[in-house]
Amino acid sequence: GSNRVLLKNGKYAYKVIVPSGIFSGSDMIELASRAKGFGSGNIRLTYDQNIFIVDIDKSALDALESTTIISKYKAFNNIYFNDMIACAGTKTCSFGVIPNKPDAIEMAHFLNSEIAIDSGMVRMNWSACPKGCGVHGIADIGFEGCKAKDDEGNRVDGVHIFIGGKITRVAKEARVLHKTLPITEAKYHIKYLLQTYAQYKQRGETFEDFENRFLSTKYSYQAIGFMTKINYILNEKLDLGIKLELNNEPKTYKKENFEIIDFGMRLFKLLTDESRFAGVDNEFEPILSQPRKITRDEVSIINPKVPKKLSEVIYMMTDPNKKSRASVFSELIVQLKGV
Ligand code: SF4
Repeated sequence: GSNRVLLKNGKYAYKVIVPSGIFSGSDMIELASRAKGFGSGNIRLTYDQNIFIVDIDKSALDALESTTIISKYKAFNNIYFNDMIACAGTKTCSFGVIPNKPDAIEMAHFLNSEIAIDSGMVRMNWSACPKGCGVHGIADIGFEGCKAKDDEGNRVDGVHIFIGGKITRVAKEARVLHKTLPITEAKYHIKYLLQTYAQYKQRGETFEDFENRFLSTKYSYQAIGFMTKINYILNEKLDLGIKLELNNEPKTYKKENFEIIDFGMRLFKLLTDESRFAGVDNEFEPILSQPRKITRDEVSIINPKVPKKLSEVIYMMTDPNKKSRASVFSELIVQLKGV
């Protein structure tokens, strides 16, 4: 399995995946004794908060895997825990804004139950405050703890979400995808992001490579942020069971104004089962040969499950008049707050 690494000396190292670095003293004593019994007695701590037992004979690997201490950590043997980093958080650091380690563990379990991915790699790094000890700035998906407001206006634990950090071939800072989301909402945004990864990734492709090849090549970050937000609203808030998916060949050239009308037309179709326009031309302007006049609450009239505010947003996205049509996603995200 991926936990077994062949070393230069012909022996193996075995990786124990530790959930966000929480490892008790008694577990360390037991692990050390297994390291003596099965290997040379040496262990290595990794920067991403895992442990390697080194110098194990190939023939002893199966027996090591069936020991109590290794079995105990098997539940964390998936891509969400494998490369996760989480800083101390409120429990042991006075700067912490959110508990952090428990939040990271909860989200990883949630993601694994929603989208289990066998071959791949996603580095999720959590810092509980802006000091960034969890190195969220270079993560595939980074979280920085903050306080946020829920729908009722209560102050709750929240995160800023970053994506697209690079460490493999070049070093690159991650960019903000969303600011100040309640953690209870953030996990759904990550779910939709990772569903896109699971849908379009090549075999064994890491999220870092996928972000390079697919996400940041085909879409603006603003469009990706809108996609996770609208899917959260359509499903978790309105329970409509409808998903706006990113496209393998979008032809919108990362231009926000093209992406907005493209998404708007697709949302109109998904929610009403009718077409907003006959199509768009090469400049992503609606083909108005048979213009369809709609009111701002058209989508709600056809589909009463759609709140008027969402209908209004779709109108703003597909307004036939280019001058009054929404041209940046940030104004739509603000509008969606009330939905
Ligand atoms: S990022 Fe903040 S909360 Fe986390 S360990 Fe560093 S100073 Fe403490």
